Amino acid sequence: TDAGLAAEKLPVDPVESAPANDAGRDLMSKFDALIAERQALIDTGVTDPFAIVMEQVTSPTEAVIAGRDTILLGTYNYMGMTFDPDVIAAGHAALDQFGSGTNGSRMLNGTFRDHIEVEDALRDFYGMSGAIVFSTGYMANLGMISTLAGKGEYVILDADSHASIYDGCKQGNAEIVRFRHNDVEDLDKRLGRLPKDAGKLVILEGVYSMLGDIAPLADMVAVARKHGAMVLSDEAHSMGFYGPNGRGVYEEQGCDVDFIIGTFSKSVGTVGGFCVSNHPKFEAIRLACRPYIFTASLPPSVVATAATSIRKLMTATKKRAQLWDNARNLHGGLKALGFKLGTEKPDSAIIAIILDDQQQAVAMWQALLDGGLYVNMARPPATPAGTYLLRCSLCAEHTPAQIETVLGMFAAAGRALGVI
Ligand code: PMP
Repeated sequence: TDAGLAAEKLPVDPVESAPANDAGRDLMSKFDALIAERQALIDTGVTDPFAIVMEQVTSPTEAVIAGRDTILLGTYNYMGMTFDPDVIAAGHAALDQFGSGTNGSRMLNGTFRDHIEVEDALRDFYGMSGAIVFSTGYMANLGMISTLAGKGEYVILDADSHASIYDGCKQGNAEIVRFRHNDVEDLDKRLGRLPKDAGKLVILEGVYSMLGDIAPLADMVAVARKHGAMVLSDEAHSMGFYGPNGRGVYEEQGCDVDFIIGTFSKSVGTVGGFCVSNHPKFEAIRLACRPYIFTASLPPSVVATAATSIRKLMTATKKRAQLWDNARNLHGGLKALGFKLGTEKPDSAIIAIILDDQQQAVAMWQALLDGGLYVNMARPPATPAGTYLLRCSLCAEHTPAQIETVLGMFAAAGRALGVI
């Protein structure tokens, strides 16, 4: 599949669509195709799916959108930590004690008490000796990949990798080799063609965010080791609920990986990114990594909420069980209704519904929103194999009654539009 190619592109590539005539002197004219495409979508009368405003957020699973109470089924708030009273209290206290921002890089005056606290919490959560916090997960990938693999070395990545992984490759100077999504044999073949002695970094993801499918990490890590490669796994979409300690798919499958990338923007319920590792020289990354050095550090209130949330996630067994129940119920219910889903079984908290074309996807999305349900709409080139998706992501805090309501809405919209 070439789906992963898509992950590094915008819906319309501005450079490729730049006119070759005089209009090209206006640097903004390269966006004409993008503007026209968006306008064509709006002209169909649909609410702009990429300009939704949360007027109020009343719980991890509910918001007011366009004046209407809406169930949220598209956020990455998997463990529902955003309204946890301890998390909120930690944020308030840090705001009061340390002010609103750090006004500097981690390298200079931007390391406060709670940056250290959150890195300690991450070391404990993952049982690893090293933890480095970045301002977002995007920057963690950008920084780690471009810093780890340099000139004459190789990055080997899954074709369906997240855009931040592709961008990390672009920012660095290593040679880039792509293998077919989740294809262990292809990974083996491609690694086998590379110079034996060259440094190699294989990049995998525990859960792939478009279809919600998981990687055969154990087999892939074994292949990477056979060829002497180091391994980085992005566990952004598995933290908190995969593996005995909620560390991710790599933990569930018993893999030994060199670097784990994660984010605070999903299960942790705030914003920020990180890398954890047992490598004895890991701290050196702080001295060489541009996306770590040349940007402001996270505000004290954010790192304080993250530290509290991560520590609570270490024992959140009840929430974990609720999330998996919700995933099973929604997946089973949608399958029974006759929808085509991204995975055979509920592999993660992401459940993707595959639709025939843009028109069908937009009509379904709009019908659900009008009924009081928000899901994500995703379309090529961000999706694999040219698919149009409605992506549902579950929260531990969704109640069985909400899941019932959601299934009723899908049934009604699906039947009215002839999807099922
Ligand atoms: N990695 C993956 C696999 C992701 O899906 C995302 C965000 N959706 C990121 C990294 C970036 O995380 P952040 O939102 O913290 O920038």
